[in-house]
Amino acid sequence: MQNGLLGKSLKDEAYEIIGGGISGLSFAFFMKEKGMSFRLTESAASPGGLLKTVEMKYGIAEPAANAFVANTAMDEMIETLGLTSVASGKLAKKRFLVKQGKLNSVPLDLGEIFKIPFIFFSAKKWEGGSVEDLGRMYLGENLTRQLLEPALAGIYGAPLHQLDVETMFPGFDKELKKSGRFLPAILKMRKQATLQNGKSIRKGSHSFEKGMIEITNALSDYVKDETISAHTLKKLEEDKNYILTLPAYKTAELFENHKLKELFLKVRYTPLVTTTLIFKKKDLPGFKPGFGCLIPRREGFFSLGVLFNNYIFPGRVVDEEYLSLTMIFRDEPTDKGSNFLEKPEDEIIELLYDDLKRLFGLEGKALEYKMWKYEKGIPIYSAELRQLWKEINELLIKDFPNVRVFGNYTGNISIRAINLAARKIIEEV
Ligand SMILES: Cc1cc2nc3c(=O)[nH]c(=O)nc-3n(C[C@H](O)[C@H](O)[C@H](O)COP(=O)(O)OP(=O)(O)OC[C@H]3O[C@@H](n4cnc5c(N)ncnc54)[C@H](O)[C@@H]3O)c2cc1C
Repeated sequence: MQNGLLGKSLKDEAYEIIGGGISGLSFAFFMKEKGMSFRLTESAASPGGLLKTVEMKYGIAEPAANAFVANTAMDEMIETLGLTSVASGKLAKKRFLVKQGKLNSVPLDLGEIFKIPFIFFSAKKWEGGSVEDLGRMYLGENLTRQLLEPALAGIYGAPLHQLDVETMFPGFDKELKKSGRFLPAILKMRKQATLQNGKSIRKGSHSFEKGMIEITNALSDYVKDETISAHTLKKLEEDKNYILTLPAYKTAELFENHKLKELFLKVRYTPLVTTTLIFKKKDLPGFKPGFGCLIPRREGFFSLGVLFNNYIFPGRVVDEEYLSLTMIFRDEPTDKGSNFLEKPEDEIIELLYDDLKRLFGLEGKALEYKMWKYEKGIPIYSAELRQLWKEINELLIKDFPNVRVFGNYTGNISIRAINLAARKIIEEV
């Protein structure tokens, strides 16, 4: 396995890239840059997958990523495609954590901050385990619940006990096993990443004025001569080389009557719902501008967090008088019920309003909203997933030497990680 690519290493041959999400588009972009031969096949009417932007009457909404963390691979794409990205605004520097129902600026209070260097520098014996184990060992119960859990829930969606440190951050895990010191392990991992990937000319979170659809459209256009849209690959052919960039459960469909099918189906995902709501600002009198707020589970809210979209990037609402919020929650049993994916949207919206009443004193209703429900939302980076990579990799090399597999469940979950990995894999051909 090389940079998240399962199966044999790539050679300078012609490839069928299957799936036109950001994974497939990133491969296509860097292969075209390198002059390699490929064809991209996408089952929807146009490429993009999860990376889209929908225009509503009062603003825009996005089904998944609404931003990317600056990286050199994306710098290269943006420059070649002639795009202009937008950095998160000054007001977005403020991030909040909910504590006892109220918004607190991050970092928390001084008492807790003073404890952090001591915890981070003290050496412990880390032998691997879940993020929950890591948090308990280095941060203690309070900071784990208050800081680590909500921060990671915003990216990985899953509860900490399901997430495995080595699967998520192999470099950090290795360093921590060696030195036992938290902060030096983080710094070393970051230094290695910068050495490998270079330093981006951008800093922090970025998007585009019209949303992430700008990069999707520009990439799709860049590889349009090599793309077949509205075509679903149903069967693999022996005489073709493939890079499958589909979700694991879709990849499974291509391995009928083979053990690989069962292995791909074992990849677990967190069921999630994401909703973008647009309000009149005056209807949320307790609102404070910023990037957003993370909500620890023990606070008893329905949502995991809220993004304050129009304080992060321009172009998120049609007029200053509106406020655009994105709220994400996991479909897990709570005191408000269970099986939320099956509930009608208006019932879910009422639960989100309850959260907003407690957080900002919401007085009215949303002018409009857009909701996406995912039975399989974000892949769970568990210890079991790492084992699956090993087994899938071995079986691909043995029985399908013409097939490679890559996706947000093979080691690179964010747009940033996907871009960087795709570039590295192609560079090494
Ligand atoms: C709610 C949510 C919020 C997120 N927020 C962020 C964020 O802010 N920042 C960030 O960096 N990341 C974020 N992510 C993660 C990121 O959006 C995804 O990891 C990424 O978009 C996945 O891209 P992909 O190309 O791997 O998969 P997909 O986008 O799922 O693409 C797969 C493509 O394959 C096609 N396909 C399927 N089967 C076939 C077939 N048989 N033949 C041909 N085509 C087929 C599909 O139509 C689809 O277009 C978020 C994810 C979610 C769910």
